Amino acid sequence: MRERSKELLLRARAVIPGGVNSPVRAHRAVGGDPVFLARGKGAHVWDVDGNEYIDFIGSWGPLILGHAHDAVIAAVQQTAQWGTSFGASTEREVEFAELLVRLVPSLDKVRLVSSGTEATMSALRLARGFTGRDKLIKVEGGYHGHADAFLVRAGSGAATFGVPDSAGVPAGVAADTLTVPYNDLEGVGELLSSKKLRAQIAAVIVEPVAGNMGVVPPDQGYLQGLRELCDHSGCLLIFDEVITGFRVGLSGAQGLYGVRPDLTCLGKIIGGGLPVGAYGGRSEIMDRIAPDGPVYQAGTLSGNPLAVAAGLAAVNELMRDPPYAVLERRTNQFVEQVGQCAREAGIPSTTNHVGSMFTTFFTDRPVRDLTSAKLSNTERFGRFHHAMLERGVLLAPSQFEAAFLSTAHSSEDLARTLEAVRESLATV
Ligand code: PMP
Repeated sequence: MRERSKELLLRARAVIPGGVNSPVRAHRAVGGDPVFLARGKGAHVWDVDGNEYIDFIGSWGPLILGHAHDAVIAAVQQTAQWGTSFGASTEREVEFAELLVRLVPSLDKVRLVSSGTEATMSALRLARGFTGRDKLIKVEGGYHGHADAFLVRAGSGAATFGVPDSAGVPAGVAADTLTVPYNDLEGVGELLSSKKLRAQIAAVIVEPVAGNMGVVPPDQGYLQGLRELCDHSGCLLIFDEVITGFRVGLSGAQGLYGVRPDLTCLGKIIGGGLPVGAYGGRSEIMDRIAPDGPVYQAGTLSGNPLAVAAGLAAVNELMRDPPYAVLERRTNQFVEQVGQCAREAGIPSTTNHVGSMFTTFFTDRPVRDLTSAKLSNTERFGRFHHAMLERGVLLAPSQFEAAFLSTAHSSEDLARTLEAVRESLATV
């Protein structure tokens, strides 16, 4: 029943590494083969064999309005007729930057790029250029794109000098990345008060709500604590809001938790499903970027007309009719019901959620960092993922990912999903 997907996978593997253009799509963490998708509308996608799925991946976060939202499609179609790229400034870029600056509290100025990775790596270079320091503190299990400096995990100590997570990352680069557990203020405090290190640390980068070890909310006071520690030591606080920006509210996690970072990275939702990223912050810092300042960063397709049109349409739609209260209520109710199903099936589970992002971990322990997330039964998750797929529900193919509710998920979609959850849990 997935013959065409199977055929395409064989062809893909011959010419694309692993058959995929991004490794998580390969289903290695859950077993089984990926499906090739042909189209999407609202909360539904169809594969190349014509099977329909209720989608909780949402392109890994961008599609808060669902697939092929009318306003986004209209904006892209209209804009495409006028030219797809100029490599010159356009009116829409200004309009878009004005909108982002108005909505996201920490932004005085913002620079558009074409991916989340570009946003974070540029923010890091800027933080280094601004402070004149080289080292970075990141969270264990935090993902900030695939630039060298971020592909580093902790060793066995509470905090340790980085070792590369990926071949090809120079040891010298990794050595400048220090890692601490999420929600561990003390760990950050220790590094920032270390006589040897404190004058070398340019920035602390964090997903204000962790999304890449599965969803993990910040403990009360964690983000405020990071703010204070950074202020005290003169390093910059970077919020990677590539997932949370416009996902947890119009002003992002920084609005939700009332903490203002020095620099903010955006992506995903602000592109409406097209390739967009952005980084911004206080004028004093942003003015160090070329051509005004000495920190170089550029992009042939930065501010691309189609991407900006899609992003503007999506953000305008979110402003016109903010969906956040409703999404949060529906997600609350949904994860409550999922938890109930798990209890009935006698399967240990913990669900974390913030707004419309959530993860059900197959562990009965609270999940507040990577170590506790890793207590999850990933084999069970693999079986669960497979069972859900067979029942027409698409989940991200890893235990350590967020699921996303969109405005397009109907009550019927959620009821059907719960039925699939019930049946699937019975098989795992
Ligand atoms: N930061 C976060 C928090 C992300 O989740 C991601 C991607 N999942 C990135 C950065 C990198 O974005 P991109 O894949 O667009 O380069």
